[in-house]
Amino acid sequence: MLLEGKVAIITGAASGIGRGAAMVFARHGARLVLGDIDEAGGEETAKAATEAGTEALFVRTDVTSASDVEAMVRTAMDRFGGLDCAFNNAGIEGAQQPLAESTEDTWDQVNAVNLKGVWLCLRSEVALMLRSGGGAIVNTSSVAGLVGIPFGLSAYTASKHGVIGLTKAAALEYATAGIRVNAICPGGIRTAMFDRALSAGIVTVEQAAALQPVNRLGTPEEVGQTVAWLCSDESSFITGHAMAVDGGYVAR
Ligand code: NAD
Repeated sequence: MLLEGKVAIITGAASGIGRGAAMVFARHGARLVLGDIDEAGGEETAKAATEAGTEALFVRTDVTSASDVEAMVRTAMDRFGGLDCAFNNAGIEGAQQPLAESTEDTWDQVNAVNLKGVWLCLRSEVALMLRSGGGAIVNTSSVAGLVGIPFGLSAYTASKHGVIGLTKAAALEYATAGIRVNAICPGGIRTAMFDRALSAGIVTVEQAAALQPVNRLGTPEEVGQTVAWLCSDESSFITGHAMAVDGGYVAR
């Protein structure tokens, strides 16, 4: 029970890594505020987490909207009395476009969700944590935040590198205030996002598995376990770190 008694926000909780993390957090005893634009999926995750034995509520939240994000964070205060942990995970891959053919719309959309969204969440979460005694935040970057990937995803790659810079800046600003801020960098994880890459013909399952030295894809739960640990007191001396959860992808 790494997170017993803690209150946690998870964004992108309707699907994939966010849902997997919600289930891991629930099993570790966290009470949950779940944000996503997908209402049906978000309610489904809240129901599953509640059935796993914790309190969980879904708040429809577009992470690109400051007022939505503020309302989501306020819910943690109003319903559970504060905020201990946050997993800022909502993200999109955007259209696959070679750089020379890529559009401003793709750049704007991807960076609005993946980078501005994380910044908006951090801003509201840190403000509440400063009032409620500190906490731990994890942002979702990617192996594409640590190295380049040649798949026509330049805006995505830039946004995920940006998440790491943002994580480090926030970690340093609040290091003495009892707020830790880290990033995780998943490799290939079997989720709806990954399945869209398969449908778009970007990679096959076999190719994606082979990108990782362990020769398999990861699961949302494996990422969730890492995030739960980074949010727990067990990782109390770790801040400003970008942790690969990637089966060895960036070790090569
Ligand atoms: P997913 O598509 O299964 O889940 C993403 C979730 O984010 C969805 O529920 C979606 O509705 C939500 N979302 C999208 N835009 C939003 C917005 N504006 N506001 C709120 N929610 C929004 O994808 P996933 O694979 O679970 O991805 C989760 C995170 O992990 C993303 O940040 C992604 O970039 C990152 N990531 C995924 C992989 C992978 O292989 N799957 C690898 C590295 C990093």
